[in-house]
Amino acid sequence: VRRKDSLRKNARMVDRISSRRRSENMRRIKSKGTKPELVVRKIVHRMGYRYRLHSPYLPGKPDLVFRGRGKIVEVRGCFWHQHRGCPESHIPRSRTRYWLPKLARNGERDKKNFRLLRALGWRVLVVWECETGNDGSLSRKLEKFLGS
Ligand SMILES: [Zn+2]
Repeated sequence: VRRKDSLRKNARMVDRISSRRRSENMRRIKSKGTKPELVVRKIVHRMGYRYRLHSPYLPGKPDLVFRGRGKIVEVRGCFWHQHRGCPESHIPRSRTRYWLPKLARNGERDKKNFRLLRALGWRVLVVWECETGNDGSLSRKLEKFLGS
């Protein structure tokens, strides 16, 4: 009985993830104004910080740029940017040949942009999509980064 229950639970989780993935597929890789990004923007705005969105003058057009503070917040989707160890980053087994190179390219681009931004003197905080479900801990993380 226990095994059956856990199987059912797994099936539910897979359903949940794949439906989320499907809607994600319809968005662009570097999507602007996605729900996780809006969550971060709302929190940061509430804290009273001002920022610039998707600055075209910086490598990778980072999501939130706090120029005066020399800080950047990047919001990343767990699947598209392969959040390590995160259940949402699971690659569908049926189309690995399609996904693997695509996701690898994203990862390389992320790394390259991160390095460039650091080399230009920016401090960068990455917020993962799965972290945007908890307002309290996300607020603390953002405050710690922006306030320091
Ligand atoms: Zn994640």
